[in-house]
Amino acid sequence: MNICIIGVGYVGLVTGACFAEFGIKVTCVDNDREKIAGLRQGKIPIYEPGLEELVRKNARENRLQFTDNLEEGVKHSLVIFIAVGTPSDQEGRADLRYVKEVAEAIGRTMDGYKIIVTKSTVPVGTGQFIAGIIRQHQNKNHPFDMVSNPEFLREGSAIEDFMHPNRVVLGAQSDQAVAIMKDLYSPLYLIETPFVITSVETAEMIKYASNAFLATKISFINEMANICERVGADVHQVARGMGLDQRIGPKFLHPGPGFGGSCFPKDTRAVVQLAQSLDYDFEIVKAVLKVNQRQKLYMVDKIVKAAGPLKGKTLGVLGITFKPNTDDIREAPALTILKKMEGLGARIQAYDPAGMPEARKLLKKVVFKEDLYEAGQGADALVLITEWNQFRNIDWNRMKGLLKRPLVIDLRNMYDPGKMHNLGITYHSVGRPTVDGLV
Ligand code: NAD
Repeated sequence: MNICIIGVGYVGLVTGACFAEFGIKVTCVDNDREKIAGLRQGKIPIYEPGLEELVRKNARENRLQFTDNLEEGVKHSLVIFIAVGTPSDQEGRADLRYVKEVAEAIGRTMDGYKIIVTKSTVPVGTGQFIAGIIRQHQNKNHPFDMVSNPEFLREGSAIEDFMHPNRVVLGAQSDQAVAIMKDLYSPLYLIETPFVITSVETAEMIKYASNAFLATKISFINEMANICERVGADVHQVARGMGLDQRIGPKFLHPGPGFGGSCFPKDTRAVVQLAQSLDYDFEIVKAVLKVNQRQKLYMVDKIVKAAGPLKGKTLGVLGITFKPNTDDIREAPALTILKKMEGLGARIQAYDPAGMPEARKLLKKVVFKEDLYEAGQGADALVLITEWNQFRNIDWNRMKGLLKRPLVIDLRNMYDPGKMHNLGITYHSVGRPTVDGLV
């Protein structure tokens, strides 16, 4: 079977490469010519573990090709995935301009029965919206089916998530479309992945409901951490005690500087806006967004409390990306935190294993360093924002020698407070008691 993926970003490229790995012939289409030219030469535009090898292997074996010509992709494919971005508009709604552009082009170019699949995260009703646009732009009345197949992969473990998902959600009105989609995903069927078959609208809602709920869990544990700090409790033990209850579960109960990335912030905003457009005030999700914004600023307060007024101080920062194992800095908490600290007069020297090329474009005053120790050199405090594995085994004696003061503020709770105390480091974390360095 031939399929086409339109939009070769984090989701589109992973989806294309993984379907090709399933043995399907995949054409990936993007209107970013430079990106396509690079991909044709084996250059991967994003950092995602394992992706480069997978793309190169499947391109070499002629199952994966790249083009900027949408017609080329659509004409030869039975199934067409739309995986373009759906960023927030000014009001926080999902901006469907790229989806609309693509739907018009699909309508103009289709020449027979097609299945049009939305992989992009889109509000309820978008399936109908796309179908209407396609009909308007067809020059002949070609039949097609709409499917919603939301994506749940996580950046940083995207291939593993695609190959071993917790579930595949398929929203469709026709049995034929469901059968063809199941065929596409047959390797997952064999490993007993649950398939959730629904209407298009329900599938669209499942994606938003999932992301809004996960964001809620994060904001909840962040607030709990802030309270733990005030009463001297340890939020990790609280989370473990809660998470062992099977009704709660242990995942997503890790406190930190707030959620970021290209999905949770925009999808929670879109849920609020969707509810508002239906005359419903979705109070919990609104609070989740408010708490998330406050958490980022609360991290700055924490740093000021630990380091003193920031004017004239130098802070060494480890990690900028919104999570480890990605170069994605979209809505990363570090952006808000660093800008606020600069506003308070701090000089910032930072290191991130993959995020610096993008971060340089947005954080003009930050001095980017070649490695983690350089970030600590001469700093009044070391602030850890993203929990990259590279930061797990720091040579603390070396770092202590580089820092002006042995002060570490860890916004991801990566280190053991007892060990930091023994190393003579004053250590602040999130939702756990602060320890002073042993003198
Ligand atoms: P992205 O910004 O990385 O990629 C989007 C791609 O679409 C870009 O390469 C862009 O050039 C291309 N594009 C835009 N307009 C186009 C057009 N008219 N024709 C062809 N290509 C066009 O976005 P992403 O992070 O991959 O997200 C895509 C969608 O998937 C979003 O709706 C997002 O919410 C959803 N999603 C993302 C993730 C994630 O972790 N990134 C996870 C699940 C779902």
